[in-house]
Order: sequence, then C-alpha cells, then structure tokens
Amino acid sequence: AAAASPLLDIDASKVTVQETTAPKDLLPSNELVFGRTFTDHMLSIEWTASEGWLAPRITPYQNLSLDPASCVFHYGFECFEGMKAYKDNKGKIRLFRPTKNMERMNKSSARIAMPNFDGNQVIQLISKLVKLDERFIPTGRGYSLYLRPTLIGTQRTLGVGPPGSALLYVIMSPVGPYYPTGFKAISLEATDYAVRAWPGGVGDKKLGANYAPCILPQLEAAKRGFQQNLWLFGKEEYITEVGTMNLFVAIQHKDGQKELITAPLDGTILEGVTRDSVLTLARDKLVSEGWKISERKITMPELAQASKERRLLEAFGAGTAAVVSPIRNISYRGELVGCGLKLEEEAGPLAQKFLEWIGARQYGDEEHEWSYVV
Ligand code: PMP
Repeated sequence: AAAASPLLDIDASKVTVQETTAPKDLLPSNELVFGRTFTDHMLSIEWTASEGWLAPRITPYQNLSLDPASCVFHYGFECFEGMKAYKDNKGKIRLFRPTKNMERMNKSSARIAMPNFDGNQVIQLISKLVKLDERFIPTGRGYSLYLRPTLIGTQRTLGVGPPGSALLYVIMSPVGPYYPTGFKAISLEATDYAVRAWPGGVGDKKLGANYAPCILPQLEAAKRGFQQNLWLFGKEEYITEVGTMNLFVAIQHKDGQKELITAPLDGTILEGVTRDSVLTLARDKLVSEGWKISERKITMPELAQASKERRLLEAFGAGTAAVVSPIRNISYRGELVGCGLKLEEEAGPLAQKFLEWIGARQYGDEEHEWSYVV
C-alpha cells in the first residue's frame, strides 16, 4: 500500500485572495460599538483529518454554510482568540504579542481534540488580511482593530468524537476605546453561588463553552447594580478572575511592604496576555520602587480585611478589551469592599501607569519586541 502522505500544516504562501466588489462604508470612529461591525474580508483555512490544513483563503466577509449536524452546534467544538491590530503614529500597523495568542489557541484547540497549527503562518496570514482591510483600523490611542481568530469543528455527525474536519477563520471588527471619556471604575459582585472554573477543568482554555454559562450570573449581578462577577473559588473563597479579565490587587502589609498580587496559573484562570504584560512590566519597573510582585492565591476574606484596615490600595482587571479596568468596590456578603479609590477618583496610580506603559508598546511609541510590525 502507498504510504500515507504527511498531514499538511498551514502554509501562508498558498493563500488565495478574492477581493470584495462591494466595499463597506466606514463608521465614524465615535460610533464604533465593540464587535458590532466587521471589515470587508475574512480569512478561512479548512482542515481535514486525512489531509491536514488546506490552502488558506482570504475572501469577502460572508456567511458560513454548515450542515446542521456539524459538531460545533451540538458539542461545543469551538475555541477562539481575542487580539488587536493598532495603527501607530507613523501609519504602521502593529500586532501586540501575537505569538501568545497563537500559543494559547493551540492549547485550547488541543484540549477539545481539534488540530494544532503553525502559529507563525497564521500571524503572516492575519498580517495580510489586516493590510488588505487597513482602512478599517481607526487611529488614535485606544482605537484598534479587534481580531477574532475562531476554530470550529465542522464534521457532519451527531456521534460524539474528535472532529474529522475543522475550520479556522479570522474576522475583524474596528473598536474604539473601552473608556471613551477616560477611566470609569467598575463595581464587582463576588460570586460564590456559581463556579466559572475548577481544578482539572477547562477554565484556562479559551473555549466558547466557558463563556455562555457566565452570562446568567452576570445578568443577576447587573440587576443588583454590579458590572461584572468576581469569581470566587472553593470554601476558602480564593479570588480568581473578573468577567473577561484577570484581576490584580495591590495591598500594603502591616509592616509597610506593598504587594501587587494576581492569581497563579493553576488551571482555573485564563492565561491572559495582558496579565503577563502587567506582571512583566511590574517586575521591570515596580520592584525598584519597593513593590513585591506575586502570583499567588489570596482569599476574599483577606481582601475584605485589608480593605477594612485601609490597606487595599488598588484593584484592577487586565484584559485585551480595556487593557486595565479600575475597580471601585466589590460586593461581598452584603457589604461593599472598597478598593482604595476616593469618591472622585476613577483610577488608582497603578492602573494609570499600566495603561500608559502597555499602550506605549501597543502603539509603538516605545519600540519593543512585544510589538509586531505587520
Ligand atoms: N480571562 C478571561 C476569562 C478572558 O476571556 C480574557 C480575555 N481573553 C482574559 C482573562 C484576559 O486575557 P487577555 O489579556 O489575553 O485578553
């Protein structure tokens, strides 16, 4: 018998491009709503278990046509990424740490028995797509093009098993600043009646299946006036993460030592790219100012106690959408745990610094290896 030919990896050089004949109108920057409008084109790469990855295609943005039995619709074979392209002040297009997103997507995909791929090839293809739709990238600090790489299982079967075919696609949506008029501190509800993730689970993977179950608790929190859930875990009530952000808290200990703390990567939180960026910058720039930087567990009762003793200096979420999102207070057991902001303040000094430091690298004001020039 003939030897099976090796499975193909994604090959960016094989891409075909079909340009749109119906270019869309651009929205004025101030009318952009997150994830509502999309660019002219999309990238699609099909995979089959027998051949591997087929030739990538850039086409006009269009509907998918899928058999209703496709496994994505039944068993949640879906994972995705969230990343951004920025226009710098010289007109160059930049991605921010895109290899991190590709690595994470490969881990997510592998966990649901879907195929892996060469992330560098996808970054090259995304670069080509972003260049083609360059006119959609809004300019100015806080503006960007949000990229949504998505991988779905497309096999037509109700049998529960590894998908024999898959589709990786990338769509793009122009977005404005999360806080158009400057920071606006948010209020969280510490959530213990619902659990987002657990040891041995998949909370550290970016699976669509992790997101839908979090909406109901979010609606419940919203009814009570809180914008996001702070997910607690276990009887110790460890703080894990917030909505779609990792959480950082800054505490002053009784001996005066200041510590910036975020939950460790123990499988129950997403490995945020922004989290990693905040930690790296903190270790570079804050240790010399006397800060201790820790990836460690901390409980909600500890946080509430620190707040009571006015030692909770600051708390903020970190994620691609907002970069950093200052937190005013956390509802916990019927009390509001203040997070160090004065009434008239919307952000603490650390949140402001990290927004500036990360922004400088995203928009290329500071040349840095984190910025990938397209
Ligand atoms: N946690 C969750 C659950 C998220 O969905 C996100 C957004 N991807 C984050 C944290 C932040 O990750 P990143 O900094 O990579 O956007």
